[in-house]
Amino acid sequence: MSKPKDLRVIIVGGGLAGLMMGIMLDKAGIDYHILEQASRLRPLGTSISLHPVIIDLMDQLGLLQDMNRISKPLRGITVLSANGRKMGRIDARSNKRSKHGHQAMVMSRPDLHEYLLAKIPPHKLTTGKRVIDISETPSEVTVTCIDETVYTGHLVIGADGAYSATRQIMYQRLKDHGVLPESDKKPLHFDKQCVVGITCPLDPNKYPVLQDESCEVKVLLGKDQHTSMWILPLQGNRMAWCVGGPDPHLIPQDESDNSSQGSNGSRSGRDWYPETAVEICEDVRNFKCPYGGTVMDLIDATPKGLVSKVLLEEKMYRTWYNGRVVLVGDACHKIVPFFGQGASQAILDCACLVNMLVEFTAPPTTSDLATLFQTYVDTRSETAKVASDSSREFADLIYEQGFKADLARNIVLRFTPTWLLRMVTGTVNSNRPCLNFLPPPKSYQQKI
Ligand SMILES: Cc1cc2nc3c(=O)[nH]c(=O)nc-3n(C[C@H](O)[C@H](O)[C@H](O)COP(=O)(O)OP(=O)(O)OC[C@H]3O[C@@H](n4cnc5c(N)ncnc54)[C@H](O)[C@@H]3O)c2cc1C
Repeated sequence: MSKPKDLRVIIVGGGLAGLMMGIMLDKAGIDYHILEQASRLRPLGTSISLHPVIIDLMDQLGLLQDMNRISKPLRGITVLSANGRKMGRIDARSNKRSKHGHQAMVMSRPDLHEYLLAKIPPHKLTTGKRVIDISETPSEVTVTCIDETVYTGHLVIGADGAYSATRQIMYQRLKDHGVLPESDKKPLHFDKQCVVGITCPLDPNKYPVLQDESCEVKVLLGKDQHTSMWILPLQGNRMAWCVGGPDPHLIPQDESDNSSQGSNGSRSGRDWYPETAVEICEDVRNFKCPYGGTVMDLIDATPKGLVSKVLLEEKMYRTWYNGRVVLVGDACHKIVPFFGQGASQAILDCACLVNMLVEFTAPPTTSDLATLFQTYVDTRSETAKVASDSSREFADLIYEQGFKADLARNIVLRFTPTWLLRMVTGTVNSNRPCLNFLPPPKSYQQKI
């Protein structure tokens, strides 16, 4: 009888979703190959917060210890006005009695990417392979790259981000057949932009907060919420920062043009001018730095290569698969990054799919895959939507303007009891699949 290893999976994209998918397929004994368009992977210089929801998976994959080493547990989020007045705080510490009992972990995104990349055997990932076409026969699927090389497998997983070529190729076919839902034809929505960076290692005597074992995120809110600055102390005496907010001047762009897509989780090319970054950062020049000095000290202490401007897009797609092709991560649900959910949801997509793929004992027919992919969508889409809605609501809470918004912000940030916040984040955390083919995570074993 065939084993799952007779299955061959082509993964398009070597971002966080593509790498995590590779690591999980490897553990499942399923053959895969990752095709990445960039000739050199250069992830966005920013922090990433991984939600408690994926910690058990990291434990099962044997990654947790190392990830604890490169990260800090998230303690909470303190919101301050630009002149340093405390507006409120959200406690993010885990409730030991809750179902998960884990804490979110905050780390440098380049560190995480580098760590995951090192887990992929070099012959399993090819860079400089921009996928431009996908075609199918009844038993196989073939991917064509811009250099005319072709790769064949039983299924293709599109992990190629917000401007996914896999999605665009799939959608064009569905559109030609008149079966693409109207909502999927609309471009991604965005109304916020930001500049992100990670400082070089700073002097812990000047910034004693760097010695804290956990990470307290500070959000400094400018007047009228036009601009905010987020500051996150990281491992290695560094600080991540993000300056940005709603931008009324953003002009919607055409989805069909993905020429400016970066390998960093967001569009960053066409509208990127160093002057724009400087302009955005100027907005926070007079913000009071909670750690002494000025916030410009942190921006100035950031190597230029670790500063990027990004647009924060948002969209939940309805169509996640067709034939032998399926989407994961930002390719099917692009979430605004205010609740630390995008990457975590992408990782959950991967776990859900791999759990089902491992059940195949023979190469699947297109009809087998249709059943599997529909179960995947039924399992994942609702949770991803809750995560997306929560992220949008959190962004609205922070950025919305006007009297009503001020009142709501004051009430939620000052008076919302911790138990209520935990209940809300608990809802986001409730769907937490584990990898069924691996021993249960330690936290489960401890409960038995
Ligand atoms: C500023 C910012 C902060 C964020 N903070 C957080 C956070 O704290 N917590 C969190 O969970 N999430 C966060 N996110 C969201 C998170 O980064 C994304 O959800 C996650 O990176 C999605 O991963 P992905 O692999 O699906 O897509 P991507 O990271 O975009 O990777 C896609 C990859 O596919 C490649 N690719 C694209 N087209 C092709 C092609 N045609 N052929 C081959 N390869 C291709 C790209 O080069 C890229 O390497 C943040 C996002 C931003 C922008």
